[in-house]
Amino acid sequence: HLKGKTALVTGSTSGIGLGIAKALAAAGADIIINGFGDEGAIEAERAALAALNGGKAAYDGADLTRPDAIAEMFERADSDMGGVDILVNNAGTQFVSPVEDFPVEKWDLILALNLSSAFHTIRHAVPGMRKKGWGRIIGTASAHSLVASPFKSAYVAAKHGLAGLTKTVAIEVADAGITANCISPGYVWTPLVENQIPDTMKARNMTREQVINDVLLAGQPTKQFVTVEQVAALAAFLTRDEAANITGANLSVDGGWTAA
Ligand code: NAD
Repeated sequence: HLKGKTALVTGSTSGIGLGIAKALAAAGADIIINGFGDEGAIEAERAALAALNGGKAAYDGADLTRPDAIAEMFERADSDMGGVDILVNNAGTQFVSPVEDFPVEKWDLILALNLSSAFHTIRHAVPGMRKKGWGRIIGTASAHSLVASPFKSAYVAAKHGLAGLTKTVAIEVADAGITANCISPGYVWTPLVENQIPDTMKARNMTREQVINDVLLAGQPTKQFVTVEQVAALAAFLTRDEAANITGANLSVDGGWTAA
């Protein structure tokens, strides 16, 4: 259903973003992936996406902590891909530390990447979507956009902010055929989760198994990690015409975490 549309998925060289890029490509969208990583691996991912959609797949390595780099990415999207019809604000990072020791540069990085980058992508994307009378803005927020966990002050603050930003945009663009929603996963097994296990072991003085069972999955009543494919399928649904009246929503895919 997405033939002729272009999707930009930020932070899509790995994890959830890559899964969303695959789901949108499978639905026929041209794709721009973004993020860091090994050049050869990224090129292989890009080529696989181009094979999936039978169309275009491009890679843009913009560092989303830099507003000027985001502006340049949108200039390239306009000239090479005909603009951005579907914007997925997915890039994000985590850091775990008690608030009184939280490194200031980590706070600044997380706010820039997990929140401010979405403000910049949205402000660049909305004019083109308005012109076309159609657009989809999707944020990968988190259960941490709804509830807190200790030692994640920057992440929880940024994700609450992303949810608030997305809601605000939803009502501003509601009459222009554009929807804006957040998807809020619980714990999804990706490198982001894997990488925070050592610091959580330190912060809580726990073993790896204790962190997985007593911290990560403690609040998830299903006692299962969410899968990338489950999050990606919801993102793809939000791009359908059937989803035209889902806007300003924050949709949980969290195994019951925020219901408990
Ligand atoms: P990941 O670490 O696998 O992927 C993060 C992506 O962001 C990578 O492609 C990376 O290269 C990119 N990135 C990092 N810094 C960047 C920068 N400065 N500029 C551009 N790209 C950059 O993580 P993931 O688990 O797939 O997370 C994706 C999103 O989902 C994040 O916003 C995360 O907060 C959110 N999320 C994850 C979980 C989870 O359990 N994994 C749960 C809820 C929400």
